[in-house]
Amino acid sequence: MSGNFLALAQPGVQQLSPYVPGKPVDELARELDLDPASIVKLASNENPLGASPKALAAIRDELAELTRYPDGNGFALKSLLAERCGVELSQVTLGNGSNDILELVARAYLAPGLNAVFSEHAFAVYPIATQAVGADAHVVPAKDWGHDLPAMLAAIDANTRVVFIANPNNPTGTWFDAQALDDFLQDVPEHVLVVLDEAYIEYAEGSDMPDGLDFLAAYPNLLVSRTFSKAYGLASLRVGYGLSTAVVADVLNRVRQPFNVNSFALAAACAALQDEAYLAESRRLNEAGMQQLEAGLRELGLGWIPSKGNFICVDVGRVAAPVYQGLLREGVIVRPVANYGMPNHLRVTVGLPAENSRFLDALSKVLARG
Ligand SMILES: *Cc1c(COP(=O)(O)O)cnc(C)c1O
Repeated sequence: MSGNFLALAQPGVQQLSPYVPGKPVDELARELDLDPASIVKLASNENPLGASPKALAAIRDELAELTRYPDGNGFALKSLLAERCGVELSQVTLGNGSNDILELVARAYLAPGLNAVFSEHAFAVYPIATQAVGADAHVVPAKDWGHDLPAMLAAIDANTRVVFIANPNNPTGTWFDAQALDDFLQDVPEHVLVVLDEAYIEYAEGSDMPDGLDFLAAYPNLLVSRTFSKAYGLASLRVGYGLSTAVVADVLNRVRQPFNVNSFALAAACAALQDEAYLAESRRLNEAGMQQLEAGLRELGLGWIPSKGNFICVDVGRVAAPVYQGLLREGVIVRPVANYGMPNHLRVTVGLPAENSRFLDALSKVLARG
C-alpha cells in the first residue's frame, strides 16, 4: 500500500494554501494568443522603471565568477548596509529576498505549541512561514483594513514568540505612525520578537511613516526587514535583509542556507544602494503614478484604500473576480485579493504613466459592460 503523502505532511502544512503570485506576462500571452509586449502587468508591485544601469553593470562584471560560490557572509553588502543604517555589521542578516528573513525567523523561533500573531489582510507569507514550522497563527481582525495594534497586543499570550507587522501593509497599503509603533513596542512582552516588515519603506520618505531603524536601539526584541525587490528594482534577484540585535542575527545565521544570496544579487544590491538617482526617480514615478491612478478612480466613481506603497487596492463595488478576468482579456494583469479576505478589491501596482492609463481605460471598459 502506498502512503497518503498529503495526510503524512505535518498538519500545519496540510492546512496551507500555496502562495499565489501575480500572473506572468508570458502565461497570459500564451492563453490569449497575445503579443507579450502588448500586455501590462501591474500585479506584483514590481518597479516599472527597469533595473538601475549600475546594477546591470555590476551583474555583467560578476559573470566571470560564475563558477565560484558567492561570499557566504555577504561582507561587501553587509558593510554597506551597516554603514547606511547606522548599525554594526553583526546586526545585519542577508536573505534570499526578505521572504527568506521571515522564514528564518519562523524556523528559529516558532515550533508546534508556539504561535505567531499577525493581522487579517496581512502579507500572505506570514501564515505560510508560521504554519510551515507547525506553529499556530493568531490572526487578529483588521481595523479599517489596517493593523489593529492594540488588538494585536491583546492577542499575545505566553506561547507567542513572534509578531509580524507590515508598515505599510501589503495588499492593503495601510500604515501606522511612529507614536502607534512606539506604544506597541513598549507594551509587547520582552520574550516576543517583533518583525517589522518594511518592504516599501523607501517609498514613504517624508511622510508620517516611522523609520523602523529609529527603534532598534531601544527595543532589542525588534527585527526590521527590508528588500531590494521593490523601490530598488531587483525583484528577480531575490535579495533582502534583516536588522536586529547581533544576538538575533546570530540565531538566524545558524539556520540560514550557507549561500542563500547569490553573487549577482550581492553585487547588484551594492550597486543599487549607491544609485541615489535611481531611487529618487523610483519615488518620483510612484508619487506621480499614485496621483494619476487616484484621479482616474475618482473619475470612475470608485473607492480605494489610501496607500503608502507602490500599489493601491481598488474597491470595484462588486465581486472583483469577473472584473479581473475582464481586465485580463484587455491585456491588463492586476492582482485579485479575495484570498486575502477582500473579494471586492483588486490590487493594482503603480506603473509607468502609459501603463496606468491602459489600466484605467481597460477598467472603465470592463465596468461599463456590467
Ligand atoms: C514584496 C514584499 C516582501 C518581500 O519580498 P522579497 O521579494 O522576498 O524581498 C515582504 N513583505 C511584503 C509586505 C511585501 O509586499
